[in-house]
Amino acid sequence: MGYRVKLVEQNATAYNQASLQQEGKVHLGFIYALDTSKKTTDKLLMDALQFGPIIEDLIGEKIDWNRIKSSRFDYIVARDSMMSSDSLLEHYEYLNTQYHNLRSDQHLHYLGERPQDLFIVPSRDNLTPYNQEKIVMVCPTQEYALRPEDLRQTIVDKIKSSPIEVITNHEVKSVQRSSYGFITQCLCQEQLVNLESDLVINAAWEEKRRIDHSMGLTEDGIWSLRVKMGLIFRADQIKKWNSFSMVLGSYGDLVVYPAYNEAYFSWYPECMLMQTNELELPSSWQPTLRSQINSGQLKKAIERSGIALGAILSSVEISELVNVKAGAILARGFRSIQDPSSDLHKRHDIPILADNGYFSINTGKFTSAPHNSQKLLTYL
Ligand SMILES: Cc1cc2nc3c(=O)[nH]c(=O)nc-3n(C[C@H](O)[C@H](O)[C@H](O)COP(=O)(O)OP(=O)(O)OC[C@H]3O[C@@H](n4cnc5c(N)ncnc54)[C@H](O)[C@@H]3O)c2cc1C
Repeated sequence: MGYRVKLVEQNATAYNQASLQQEGKVHLGFIYALDTSKKTTDKLLMDALQFGPIIEDLIGEKIDWNRIKSSRFDYIVARDSMMSSDSLLEHYEYLNTQYHNLRSDQHLHYLGERPQDLFIVPSRDNLTPYNQEKIVMVCPTQEYALRPEDLRQTIVDKIKSSPIEVITNHEVKSVQRSSYGFITQCLCQEQLVNLESDLVINAAWEEKRRIDHSMGLTEDGIWSLRVKMGLIFRADQIKKWNSFSMVLGSYGDLVVYPAYNEAYFSWYPECMLMQTNELELPSSWQPTLRSQINSGQLKKAIERSGIALGAILSSVEISELVNVKAGAILARGFRSIQDPSSDLHKRHDIPILADNGYFSINTGKFTSAPHNSQKLLTYL
């Protein structure tokens, strides 16, 4: 649009935090069944169908999605799920109908595909790989995750060859309005540096609310910051597994990348490490955000996650822990996800707070990021 853009990043490299440390699922809306208004489902479905087209438009080339995709997700319904199988199936049918309504738009696709349906009606055969003492229904879906490292590479390469100026090792402390626009005050090597601009877009995720406050902007309601981790491992049988999300409650997700012989597993009771409703994360949590987890806590989480996974999949032998990833999640709501009325079951906020040249983005889910960027253009 003719703007000169400076991307200000606190770390030595950009795209290194939540968007890299996350699970990578491009959510179609299956998981948010407890938002009975259906607003989260409708939003995520549209965000997911815009995800591929907008990224491809932005980087100016087609992406080989199959190369970076996980195996497809099964939605496995726990015996003690917060919602019955029938209610979940109703939700999945609603989602599929909404998808059929949108599918006529030829521009939309889901990671390069336009499947007839988003799920297959469950049969008893689908239960076979899973432990039937724990699971009552398995719904095969067309949902996938993208390997965050691979997508990052594509986007970072594009930024390098673009006119965007990336200013690393600058931690934004505050933003203030000036007579001509804005002054963004940053800390760089213990020195304060002022950057001047006509517009400011705050996309700092876990620091978003603190920077908004420096501008005198607040949003109502209770917000939370959670730090969650996932374990990347190798196992003998990996190539045979589907990815899964166990629903609906305090369970977890397995994401399988057969081409890498690797899987990501996050079991909520063990991997949800911290939660606060403060404006920003306490500084003592910073090492955790860099995936430096206390060794005792990590050992316990690995053991218990292994047991949880073994109780779901009939045969699992984790052969090697490859990596541990932890990242922050900003969301409206604070009450436990085991409370069906918790606002954490909703993600349908308008993503952009606009104040006369200052724009603050609540990404919501990684899935929503490309669509958010398109929405931002309508304000400029
Ligand atoms: C464990 C986990 C699993 C998740 N799984 C999924 C999933 O499967 N699907 C999904 O859609 N979403 C998922 N999410 C949510 C998703 O990761 C986030 O919604 C998304 O990555 C946020 O993107 P972002 O660009 O806003 O934040 P980030 O990717 O964190 O980018 C913000 C950038 O701002 C920089 N920054 C922050 N503060 C400052 C400052 N003061 N000065 C300068 N720079 C600063 C950071 O260093 C960072 O580079 C998950 C999150 C976690 C933690």
